[in-house]
Amino acid sequence: MTGGPNFFEEICKVLRRILVSIGLAIVFGTAGAVAQTILPDPVKGVEVEMGTQAGLEAWVQDFRPRALAAGVPAATFDQAMRGVEFNPKVVERDRNQNEFTKTIWDYLDTAVSEDRVALGIKALEKNRALLERIEAEYGVEKEVVAAVWGLESAYGTYRGDLPVLGSLATLAYEGRRGAFFEAELIAALKIVDGGHVESFTGSWAGASGHTQFMPSSWEKFAVDFDGDGKRNLWGDDPADALASTANYLRHWGWQTGMPWGFEVKLPEGFDYEQTTERVVKPVAEWQAMGVRTASGGDLPDPGPGSSLLPGGARGAAFLIFPNFQVIEKYNTADAYIIGIGHLADRIKGGPAIAGTWPRELRALTLEERVELQGLLGRAGFDPGGVDGRMGPKTIAAVKAFQKARGLIPDGYPSLEVLGLLR
Ligand code: CA
Repeated sequence: MTGGPNFFEEICKVLRRILVSIGLAIVFGTAGAVAQTILPDPVKGVEVEMGTQAGLEAWVQDFRPRALAAGVPAATFDQAMRGVEFNPKVVERDRNQNEFTKTIWDYLDTAVSEDRVALGIKALEKNRALLERIEAEYGVEKEVVAAVWGLESAYGTYRGDLPVLGSLATLAYEGRRGAFFEAELIAALKIVDGGHVESFTGSWAGASGHTQFMPSSWEKFAVDFDGDGKRNLWGDDPADALASTANYLRHWGWQTGMPWGFEVKLPEGFDYEQTTERVVKPVAEWQAMGVRTASGGDLPDPGPGSSLLPGGARGAAFLIFPNFQVIEKYNTADAYIIGIGHLADRIKGGPAIAGTWPRELRALTLEERVELQGLLGRAGFDPGGVDGRMGPKTIAAVKAFQKARGLIPDGYPSLEVLGLLR
């Protein structure tokens, strides 16, 4: 869900997003923005003492003056927080999120399954007038808004059924990133205070509604598109939620009519050191290097872009453009961004990804990622930290190591690379 200004590392990305299969999004809690903010530090231990209901209730009393000072009316606070329950499962999810690791191809199999594409086409037909009005007002294509809806809640089907106030209070009380969740809880109480929501349920991390907004994103970006005076992202009518999503994307710079990216074919002998978001070139340069569309044609020219190989040199390749970075504001995982973009393309009638994936590879476990970083550092390739996150520095270190060993420097953290480092 939307959320956050924070940027995440690619891994987290991959991890989290992972879940988005129908229903999973919710479980995962990320539907979007939130996820990024809630990713736990993957390396820190998991053996922390668990809170209790009594502890939560004491915390609520301690929290009360801060909420009131932040503008939550006392009556609202007392009524809304009465009976809020400590939820140990929320804490567990928060701590263990990184155990869920998927490769991009496994992720995309669910995120852009034929079912989700077909349901997306149906959802778009059913809501065409609404989505067209949203497109006209916010400049975000209807297929893109539909794709976010599709990944975040399976087009409104799985919006999450955990009490948002309980989840946020549990996470705020529990301590890890407590300040972040306390701020979210205050925003949630303002939603309640304004009477915007009837049934306030969502994911374990407090993202909720059709497009899984965090409360702070609701504050900043939610709109009352149906004009009933409420910014209601939770009811059966998705109008406010979908318009809010478009508003969010517009705010972050969505360029109407421009692609997020598209699949390409790389030539023999391609310089794989160029495959990073950090290298941006005019399309004419990519074309001159021999890059072509997936079907072998000349490249269209939407302006400067980068090449991206989310599954390494043996997987599908993409050129990506500024709208890619806009979707990234929803969720930083490359897999998620490609999932949204590709689902939108499919809903629009575009083809499936043509390239194959190295499906025999499995994702590295958290322990293996940490080991990989440690070994890279010892071998003289600075991974930028040993935290299990495959961020830009770790990927650059993998590339440098691959190059030194005479391998294709695609930066993909495979078991093979780990084996060579050992
Ligand atoms: Ca409304």
